[in-house]
Amino acid sequence: MNTTPATTQERIFNFSAGPAVLPLEVLQQAQQEMLNWQGTGMSVMEISHRSDAFLAIVKQTSDDCRELLGVPSNYQILFLPGGGTLQFSMVPMNLLAKNPQADYVQTGFWSQKAIAEAQRYGDIHIASTTKKVLDLATIPDQSSWQLRSNAAYVHYVHNETIDGITFPWVPDCGKVPLVADMSSCIFSAPIDVSQFGLIYAGAQKNMGPAGITLVIIRDDLVTTPMPMTPTMLTYQDHVKAQSLLNTPPTYSWYMVGLVLQWLKRKGGLVDIQRDNVAKAKKLYDYIDSEAFYRNPVAPAYRSLMNVPFTLAHTSLDECFLSEASMRGLENLAGHRSIGGMRASIYNAMPLAGVETLIEFMADFVKRKG
Ligand SMILES: *Cc1c(COP(=O)(O)O)cnc(C)c1O
Repeated sequence: MNTTPATTQERIFNFSAGPAVLPLEVLQQAQQEMLNWQGTGMSVMEISHRSDAFLAIVKQTSDDCRELLGVPSNYQILFLPGGGTLQFSMVPMNLLAKNPQADYVQTGFWSQKAIAEAQRYGDIHIASTTKKVLDLATIPDQSSWQLRSNAAYVHYVHNETIDGITFPWVPDCGKVPLVADMSSCIFSAPIDVSQFGLIYAGAQKNMGPAGITLVIIRDDLVTTPMPMTPTMLTYQDHVKAQSLLNTPPTYSWYMVGLVLQWLKRKGGLVDIQRDNVAKAKKLYDYIDSEAFYRNPVAPAYRSLMNVPFTLAHTSLDECFLSEASMRGLENLAGHRSIGGMRASIYNAMPLAGVETLIEFMADFVKRKG
């Protein structure tokens, strides 16, 4: 058995959309704490989720989340299993109990998935969809949306992970609660939580490993769900039990906690946003400067986190990917539904990763363009 710890030199630049790159410091801390977590003589995975030691993680993670995002006191913070996808059903099952109408904004792959799931539970109306302007994807201004003033909520996906489209603004739906899927952009920049009724995000993009999902829900939306809704899918029950209805994914929870502490050490979300803007700008500027590469999104709506691009000739895709891989640039293939390339550059992707990618892209054009 080889027990030599992996060196940082062995690590590659991982551009995967999720599960995604984690901060090296966090992985090293987890490695160090693996066998004996805080003097317990056990790993975090081996301790009871009801123990004081684990409850300290629960409290710290929730406090750090509240501090980093500025979550007001009339919002509950939940850590639930099931991923972003389970929220596609949990949201309608809980929020459509009294009024079956909800409005959805369709901006790409994940909002389409959320719509398809919600249609099982209520009267789902599509208020707006992305439009191509001069062959570039844009999000129509809210003035053109067809919102129903009597809807139970409006759902949108703040950052479309596959399409690389993001909202440069937050929809204003008046009294109708706004529900946001922030799976791939949570903690990438400051947000004003008071603009939302409910925010959810699967952890494995920008927050930790797979297996746990953050839900931030305003108190007035914690109500009785549709009849037959299982306890495990009832926000009310999770709030009462403080996310400990059953054995939660304890290790993922611990890892999210370490990532939030890393974010605090980095200076918080204003600082991380500045770094994210700098990384994304470098990559988009390079793509725009080189006719061989193309990003399909209008500049105002480009994602800071997920950068899809195509090569001038799809016949070169495989060669691009294998040469990138030889340089330690991994997981650059676009989602199977749209092809091309995609570089996911979450919080934990260092600037050096983006710079190495750009160098490789420039070299590739010189040789193959
Ligand atoms: C990845 C993703 C999901 C699905 O997440 P799972 O945790 O795999 O269920 C949903 N929404 C968005 C925006 C995503 O990026």
